[in-house]
Amino acid sequence: MKAKQKIKNTFLILTAILGFSLHTSSQNPVITEKYTADPAAIVHNDTVYLYAGHDEAAHDFHFYNLNEWLIYSSTDMVNWREEGNFPVTEFEWARGDAWAAEVIEKDGKFYWYVTVHHKDVDGKAGKAIGVAVADSPVGPFKDAIGAALITNNMTTDIDIDWDDIDPTVYIDDDGTPWLFWGNSKCYYAKLKDNMIELDSPIMEIEGLSNFTEAPFIHKKGDYYYLTYAYEFPEKTAYAMSKSIEGPWEFKGILNEIAGNCNTNHQAILEYKGKDYFIYHNGGIPTQGGSFRRSVCIDYLHYNPDGTLKRVQMTSEGVKPAK
Ligand code: CA
Repeated sequence: MKAKQKIKNTFLILTAILGFSLHTSSQNPVITEKYTADPAAIVHNDTVYLYAGHDEAAHDFHFYNLNEWLIYSSTDMVNWREEGNFPVTEFEWARGDAWAAEVIEKDGKFYWYVTVHHKDVDGKAGKAIGVAVADSPVGPFKDAIGAALITNNMTTDIDIDWDDIDPTVYIDDDGTPWLFWGNSKCYYAKLKDNMIELDSPIMEIEGLSNFTEAPFIHKKGDYYYLTYAYEFPEKTAYAMSKSIEGPWEFKGILNEIAGNCNTNHQAILEYKGKDYFIYHNGGIPTQGGSFRRSVCIDYLHYNPDGTLKRVQMTSEGVKPAK
């Protein structure tokens, strides 16, 4: 009995050591308790906050079913804690659909730009962009306007009701906030300092090869990067510029089609000296897929000339950030 117990204890210790070593990287997808899509991420007080849509489609339902967004935090990019949720019902003018969103901090407040479906009133039916605001990165978030910031009928060049989706906001070095969004066309406009009103006409970026949706702006060194979902099924492609107002030079594909998923949606983040590419795939066995997506994280690498190396999507994910 004693010998048996000893063997058992040794086995348990070995299992614990092995288990520990297996979890020294994140293992993609990083969130497995729930299906999560369309990641956005910020760093605040040395903590990363991850915001994602909650995919709730049943396994036999072949379209999007998202009714809330989820908030997670991490201090190492590997271990994530769920901080709460944000229901789409906060936007009383919306019919539903908690689609892709972006969060940004400005002057101690946190602004959450969301895609939702506008109720059929005053010619505003269709996908629309709203803004919520909070004093903390984990909320509580409240509708900042009480109405949509962007509605489908504000952009009429294209006859679809889902071209006003996927907002992203970038605050330029001079303090000017810029809103980018779009499906099929990439729109942009200047925002007022209050973050909830446009401060320019709506403009359109030309020359983005096969632009589908999901624009995202970030800056590194002297260059601005506009990454976006390219073709369909979606890859992620990118363009570079020396100015937020362009001209943008198309640079090619950054990320290939993500496993078992026809969309691709990126957030790019620098944290504790490393660069990260946050995206989603349909990789959770056995019911993961295009409508049951999962957030993943891999490294992003720059070439010496500022261009981006192709993302290498991995099962192992990233190592704990120190
Ligand atoms: Ca429109």
